[in-house]
Amino acid sequence: MKYIGAHVSASGGVANAAVRAAEIGATAFALFTKNQRQWRAAPLSTETIDEFKATCEKYHYTPAQILPHDSYLINLGHPMADALEKSREAFIDELTRCQQLGLTLLNFHPGSHLMQIPEDECLARIAESINIALAQTEGVTAVIENTAGQGSNLGFKFEHLAAIIDGVEDKSRVGVCIDTCHAFAAGYDLRTGQLTAETFAEFERVVGFKYLRGMHLNDAKSAFGSRVDRHHSLGEGNIGYEAFRWIMRDERFDGIPLILETVNPDIWAEEIAWLEAQQEADASA
Ligand SMILES: [Zn+2]
Ligand SMILES: [Zn+2]
Repeated sequence: MKYIGAHVSASGGVANAAVRAAEIGATAFALFTKNQRQWRAAPLSTETIDEFKATCEKYHYTPAQILPHDSYLINLGHPMADALEKSREAFIDELTRCQQLGLTLLNFHPGSHLMQIPEDECLARIAESINIALAQTEGVTAVIENTAGQGSNLGFKFEHLAAIIDGVEDKSRVGVCIDTCHAFAAGYDLRTGQLTAETFAEFERVVGFKYLRGMHLNDAKSAFGSRVDRHHSLGEGNIGYEAFRWIMRDERFDGIPLILETVNPDIWAEEIAWLEAQQEADASA
């Protein structure tokens, strides 16, 4: 079964994210468990945790259908010791919040070398950050997202994801989330069903579907191979509909959150319905 949804707002409290997901007919959702542009947040209260769990139960969202995203400020591969420490502490706090909410996944961007350390050193730092954080938490899997490769962000090659996984001691608690816009901008073609099949064959070879814990389904406003991260609504960007139809018909994407981060929340309900419909072999655009 496919779990399809969007990254919904958690404003007014994390439980509201589940309500908003239900309103658009989603069977999955993503959320920030704190303000994504701030380092600190008040700890989650027992009331907040209980309300979140009750709301998820009411709308039938299990942890397998929910993909929380961490703060944009965190850089687990930071070249400077003090800044790296700050990021590691914040990441442990993010994992802890997920654990308290009964969630099992945490999606994050791997990190940036800021032109100050070599790529392989940065990837090793990221793996070490994950090891430290996993050792201090329980039950939550660190889900590394591929990036568009903007600036000095690593994670734009499947090999980067594989290298990080290789450095993580507990392989049962590390996984990846593939963002279609990021992959396309990083030079993985998705413009036809055949090209999408080839890109995911490459993914299987380098990383492996056994590590796939989520997807971000975004079309791309940015050009192929541009290393620029600009999302678009499904079918309106440079990827087009075919890749998304192909994904919806492949069972290797079953049972994980498939999350829209497309640019127009007003049409998320339609996009979700369209994706659902593509599972039928005779569906047309
Ligand atoms: Zn994404
Ligand atoms: Zn993006």
